[in-house]
Amino acid sequence: MKQFIEEPVFEKIAEAADELGLPAYVVGGFVRDKFMGRECTDIDVVAIGEGSGIALARHFARKLGIPNKVNVFKNFGTAMVRYEKEVEWQIEFVGARKESYRKDSRKPIVENGTLEDDQNRRDFTINALAISLQKENFGELIDPFGGIMDIDKRLIKTPLDPDITFSDDPLRMMRAIRFATQLKFEIEPGTFNAICRNARRIRIVSKERIIDEFNKMLLAKKPSFGINLLDKSGLLVLIFPKLVDLKGAQMIDGKGHKDNFNHTLKVLDNLSANTENLWLRWAALLHDIAKPITKKFDPELGWTFHGHEFIGAKMVPKIFAELKLPLNDKMKYVQKLVLLHLRPIILAEDHVTDSAVRRLLFEAGDEIDDLMQLCEADITSKNRQKVERYLKNFQLVRQKLKEIEEKDRIRNWQPPISGELIMETFGLKPSKIVGEIKVAIREAILDGKIGNNYDDAYRFMLQKAGELGLVKKA
Ligand code: ATP
Repeated sequence: MKQFIEEPVFEKIAEAADELGLPAYVVGGFVRDKFMGRECTDIDVVAIGEGSGIALARHFARKLGIPNKVNVFKNFGTAMVRYEKEVEWQIEFVGARKESYRKDSRKPIVENGTLEDDQNRRDFTINALAISLQKENFGELIDPFGGIMDIDKRLIKTPLDPDITFSDDPLRMMRAIRFATQLKFEIEPGTFNAICRNARRIRIVSKERIIDEFNKMLLAKKPSFGINLLDKSGLLVLIFPKLVDLKGAQMIDGKGHKDNFNHTLKVLDNLSANTENLWLRWAALLHDIAKPITKKFDPELGWTFHGHEFIGAKMVPKIFAELKLPLNDKMKYVQKLVLLHLRPIILAEDHVTDSAVRRLLFEAGDEIDDLMQLCEADITSKNRQKVERYLKNFQLVRQKLKEIEEKDRIRNWQPPISGELIMETFGLKPSKIVGEIKVAIREAILDGKIGNNYDDAYRFMLQKAGELGLVKKA
C-alpha cells in the first residue's frame, strides 16, 4: 500500500508523529481519492490522544522550518498547515474523536477516541479508510467497513446502520447524493431507503451547510443526476420547493405543455457540458422558475407563460435569500440572465436586424456570451429540424453580434453625450427633460438612426431639444 502515500510529505509527518510518540493516520477524502486515481492535495491526518492534532501540526511545521504556516482552530481541536513542495499541500491535523448524538440535537458530544471510534463516526465506507503513518506498519490500509470494495462496486454506503448515521447528522443525506453525483456512484438501496425515511430531519440542518452540498452537486458533470435523486428521496421538496413546482405537464383539449422540471434539468445538463461557471448553472436552474405562476391556457394559442422571464428575474433575490446564497453581484448576474433568456431566441426566430442585435448587446453587456450559451442549452426540442433551424439562426446571431461589437463597441457602452453636457448646453437644472433627451439619443444610436459618435449625437441633441422648445445657451 506504500505506493499510495509515497509523496515525501508523508514521511515527514510520520517522523514528526514518531518523535512525539503519537500514532497517526491519513484518513478520509485523500485516501478515497488516491484509490480512485483522483488528484487530491487536501490531506486529513488523525492523531490519537488528547490535543494531539494541534501538537502534531506544530511539531511538523517546526521541523520543516515553517512554524508560521500553522493555523490553529482551538475550539475544534484542529490545525491546518499549508506546505508547498512541488504541490501546494493543505494538511489538516485533528485528534481522533468519538461522537455521540442525542435525539434532540445535531450537536454531538465529542470525546477523545481511538482510531476505531474515529472511523465509526465517518459518513460513508469510502470515507472511512485510513492509512497508517506509524513506523511499524507505515502505509498499511485500515479498512474496517469494506470501503475499497465499495469503491470497486462504485457504491455509497454508510458504515453503520444508515438510520442512525442519517438521524445523527442529517446533512449526510445531502452528502450521499452529492458524492454519488460527483463520483458517478450508486447509493446502496438500504442507504437510499434510509434517506427517504429520514428526509424530514434535514430541517434541523443549517441552510448554509445544505447549499454548500447543493452547489457541489450543481458543479458535477451531470447535475441532473443529483437533483433527480434529491427529488426521489423527498429531500428536494423540503430544501427547494420552487423547483418541484416545475413538475408536471398539464393537458387541456388535447394540448399539453412540456414538463418544465425535466426541461430545466436538460438545459442544466446541456449547459454543464460547456461551462464550469456555477452562477451560469444557477441561471439555467432558475430560467423558467416563474413558469408555474404565469401559466395560462388560451383556447387559441394553447399554453402560454407570458412574462415568466420578468417575474422569474424578480423572484431571484427572494430565492437566493431563502437558500442563503450570496446577495451580491452573483445574484444580479443570475437575475440578468433569467430576465434576458428569451431575447436571443426571439431574435433568431425573427429577422436578425442590426438594431435588435445592438439593443441586445447593450442590455446584456459583458454577459452576452454567457447568455448565448444559456440560450443554446435551452433548445431541448425533440424535433430535429426545429433544433437545427434554431442553432443555425443562433450562429447568425453570434456572427452579427461580433460584427456589430467590432463596429459599434456597444458592450459596456456609454452614450457619447452626458446629462451634464445637455444641462450646460441649454442652461437646464437636473430635470425630466434632460433624461428625455438622453434617452432619445441612446435610442437613436441603438436603432441605427444616427452613428455612435459625438458629432452625430450632438447634432441629434440640438434637433431633439429644438422640437421640445429649448434654445441653446449663447
Ligand atoms: P470534498 O473535499 O469533496 O468535500 P471530502 O471527503 O474531503 O470531499 P470533507 O467534507 O472535506 O469531504 O470531509 C473530510 C472527511 O471527513 C470525509 O471524507 C469524511 O470522512 C468526514 N466527514 C465530513 N463530513 C462528515 C459528516 N457530516 N459526517 C461524517 N463524516 C464526515
